Amino acid sequence: MQRTSVSQTIDQVEKNVTLYGWVNSYRDHGKLVFFDLRDYTGLLQIVVNPQVSQKAFEEAGKLSPEDVVKVSGLVKSRVEKYINPDLPTGKVEVEATEISLINKSTQTPFEIDADGRDVDELLRLKYRYLDLRRPRLNSNIRLRHQIIRHMRGFLDDRGFVEIETPILTKATPEGARDFLVPSRLQPGKFYALPQSPQQYKQLLMVAGFEKYYQIARCFRDEDPRADRCYGEFTQLDMEMSFVDQEELLNLTEALMIEITEKVVGKKVYKKPFPRFTYQEAMEKYGNDKFDIREEKDPDVLGFAWVLDFPLFEKTQTRALAPSHHPFTAPKNEDLGLLESDPLKVRSLQHDLVCNGYEVGGGSIRITDPKLQKKIFEILGHTSEEVQEKFGHLLKAFEYGVPPHGGIAPGIERLMMIFANEENTREVMAFPAISSGQVSVMDAPSKVDAGQLKELHLKTDL
Ligand code: ASP
Repeated sequence: MQRTSVSQTIDQVEKNVTLYGWVNSYRDHGKLVFFDLRDYTGLLQIVVNPQVSQKAFEEAGKLSPEDVVKVSGLVKSRVEKYINPDLPTGKVEVEATEISLINKSTQTPFEIDADGRDVDELLRLKYRYLDLRRPRLNSNIRLRHQIIRHMRGFLDDRGFVEIETPILTKATPEGARDFLVPSRLQPGKFYALPQSPQQYKQLLMVAGFEKYYQIARCFRDEDPRADRCYGEFTQLDMEMSFVDQEELLNLTEALMIEITEKVVGKKVYKKPFPRFTYQEAMEKYGNDKFDIREEKDPDVLGFAWVLDFPLFEKTQTRALAPSHHPFTAPKNEDLGLLESDPLKVRSLQHDLVCNGYEVGGGSIRITDPKLQKKIFEILGHTSEEVQEKFGHLLKAFEYGVPPHGGIAPGIERLMMIFANEENTREVMAFPAISSGQVSVMDAPSKVDAGQLKELHLKTDL
């Protein structure tokens, strides 16, 4: 199929081309019909003049927005006063000689040629495939692709390997509820979807890969919050062996600076990123997700590090819970306080904040099995529980574990800031909303009795 894309037409003046795409907007001026043709490269004005082709003019009369069409015609330069500076193809237009309707569109439930911010979000998600046609969403998803591509390239160049880890697995604690999947082969047992690949990436360090990353999907059954999506999100999950915290921070910082400046084209407010202890952050900003910028310019990104977090915190339900996760190492100089005053122990956790959001967290890990056991104990786990939940990790640490640490920047949070969006759903193709309802598909949904029986499950509803 000989096809010219919309963006290629700028270099094809006075040539005959054949284009395929959607009718984006349609203007009937009586003697002439104009419409914008949209394809994956952008928008282009098509002029249909009955003097050029009566047949094409008749075909054009049948078109309406979002129809899929084939257009053949001559690329022409526009005269000066008709140049559209807002379109990359604004200096040209195509004079149609032939138009064929490929597939008709019924009327869309909302306008596509607008930013869509005033449309009910449930309606947008129900018709997400149409919502994604709008330029704002389309360019968010494309930017996301560019960023992930760049992350991969940056890490590949530095000797990292991308490794996939299981989705059907055992619970790994990150402080949220697990999603469970019943096992058919072992009735009464459940897989948990990973809250992060934390334990697997540590096992990959035991396995000797030394530098790992993964564009990792994480699943957390957390309570609704307006600025995020429900259920799943993506991290750039990284882990390195034989590193200290300084190296991890520097590597992450270099990556963030490169992406912000080269891919997104925004400014980094302060380089190197300012560092705060948790205590300094609390004193200065009253929280650990602060904004270091004086003016809230969305084109300037104020990254900062928060260090020296307390290892434990008190929560509503637990006397002591990990501030991060139970694999984070305490600072050496605070080890003596572990039993006497655990809330005073500081850790080797590092959080990256940007413009008032936490955009990533990580730590140097515990690699001494005895210390790891002690931390579980302090957290209130019995030794049977420890064995059952984390025995595999402790066992692995008996076989020569390298010192290691890592970090996991959150792709959606970063993207939300990069793309000037107010919530993470705007940078995901098919997000779920806080009630748990997903885009387009009717999920969660009931399953038939036969399927439940096969899984040995009964619901009490
Ligand atoms: N697994 C951690 C998290 O999801 C990140 C890390 O410690 O590397 O926050």
